[in-house]
Amino acid sequence: ATAPESHTFEADVAKLLHLMVHSVYSDKDVFLRELISNAADACEKLRYEAIATPALLGDDPKARITLLIDAENRRLIIEDNGIGMSRDEMVEALGTIARSGTKAFMDRIQAAQGGEGAQLIGQFGVGFYSAFMVADRVDVVSRQAGSDEAILWSSDGKGSYTIGTADTVNAPVRGTRVTLHLMEDATSYTERYTLERIVKEQSGHVPVPIAILEKPGAEPQEIADGAALWMRPRSEITAEEYTDFYRSVAGQFDEPALTVHFRAEGRHEYTTLAFVPGAKPFDLFDPDRHGRMKLYVKRVFITDEAEILPRYLRFVRGLVDSADLPLNVSREMIQESPLLAAIKKGVTSRVLSELDKLAQNDAKAYTKVWETFGPVLKEGLYEDFERRSTLLELARFKTTASGSGWRSLKDYVGSLKENQSSIYYVTGSDIARLETSPQLEGFRARGIEVLLLPDQVDSFWVAAPIDFEGKPFKSVTQGAADLTLIPRIEGDGNSDVEAPETVAGFIAGLKATLGEAVSDVRASERLTESAVCLVAPESGMDRQLERLLARAGQ
Ligand code: ADP
Ligand code: MG
Repeated sequence: ATAPESHTFEADVAKLLHLMVHSVYSDKDVFLRELISNAADACEKLRYEAIATPALLGDDPKARITLLIDAENRRLIIEDNGIGMSRDEMVEALGTIARSGTKAFMDRIQAAQGGEGAQLIGQFGVGFYSAFMVADRVDVVSRQAGSDEAILWSSDGKGSYTIGTADTVNAPVRGTRVTLHLMEDATSYTERYTLERIVKEQSGHVPVPIAILEKPGAEPQEIADGAALWMRPRSEITAEEYTDFYRSVAGQFDEPALTVHFRAEGRHEYTTLAFVPGAKPFDLFDPDRHGRMKLYVKRVFITDEAEILPRYLRFVRGLVDSADLPLNVSREMIQESPLLAAIKKGVTSRVLSELDKLAQNDAKAYTKVWETFGPVLKEGLYEDFERRSTLLELARFKTTASGSGWRSLKDYVGSLKENQSSIYYVTGSDIARLETSPQLEGFRARGIEVLLLPDQVDSFWVAAPIDFEGKPFKSVTQGAADLTLIPRIEGDGNSDVEAPETVAGFIAGLKATLGEAVSDVRASERLTESAVCLVAPESGMDRQLERLLARAGQ
């Protein structure tokens, strides 16, 4: 072995390590789940590569993860016989945070105040670096499948790491060995029952068996059998098992808000296990974020880039396991497969119908889902024409009549006023300001409900030619609202209307004064308190969309 080279972490990594090690977050157990899930990923990547290149498996075809306790030296070793890492991959994967998810996470942590930052760490997995919550030195020896070179990466997690070739005699034949030199207060991780408990709680359902060695040289004993949870019948799976599985696939620590588990049979056979998270992932609006559904074929992990669900369902975590797709298909070919297209369609519809079921059966739980992911789901209103009506039914709104609750469009249409034939909305950037908009006065005077749309996405979907149960959506700021047909609520104290001639004279005066600055001046039916308001012409752009486009430099 040559002398190792020394490198420093990217600045952000050093900060993240510091934050994690000094975080008040107490559940340090999660480091084990992170390392086991990396080991399982590595085994699954190898399983996939070996379909095309069976020689990679050598004479050791069975995937395994081993935990080795070395209490005497206060060490815990996590080893897998997966795909391993080359030197460049180790530098890239363990020494930088170039990956978009981690970057977004760091930005959130830095924006958050001290205590909240620590809480965020508790809420989301931070992968490999969590090892430094319990270890003051971490050594990683890795040998890529098919390579005869082993690489040693080593760090104390305080800002720098070394990397060099490792002595192959003691290196794994294939895969990765992570050695944790445990901190003084982390000796419990050299107790078998502690490790077994954590594995059972957090990683019992990873699709690779896990064995434990109580000391160097001892016999390995299996503590998890690597059976895929999703292949078991629903009736035999407990809520805790689902939650643990969700946490291990999602790298989140919350409870799933909705679990969707079903097997499709008939023309296409596949199993889906998908979760709607209870909390918002930190990178939900990161433009680089892609879907998080994994694709398996007969329990072999194929890719997490199949984009099984449309973008507006990008918060859903989980997997699809197909019995029909050919195992030896390349990742690129899979994208084109009509079979995958059928699966995408089936899974998308099912997730939406389960959301609808939740809305029917547990309005409170559904409201929470909507509060967390509504703005993302609304993207589907203009992206997924085919499912627009389903999505409109799932949508919930703050309105002039909703109070602290939420209204569905069914609720809205159920309380239309006499002669009202449109669904009225107002867009803006915050509910409180929308509620006091002078544009609403004439609607209030008539008891007409108006949707208050505060999200950026709202300006886009309302611009599409949309209706709900035959009622078109109409902006209150667009042109002269057809309010004359709808009677005012009696006794609202605003019935002292000016004579038409007086109004006409006044308008002519205004037009002369304002000149080119406006295209028209009209008497309005929609104001009761305020003297004037600005409106866009009937055929023109909605004012909020206009503002958004102006800001984007259009
Ligand atoms: P993530 O798993 O979300 O990608 P991690 O911080 O857990 O983030 O791991 C970073 C990367 O390091 C992984 O994506 C993988 O490329 C590499 N890696 C970590 N552990 C292993 C391992 N045991 N075998 C192979 N590669 C690994
Ligand atoms: Mg990981």
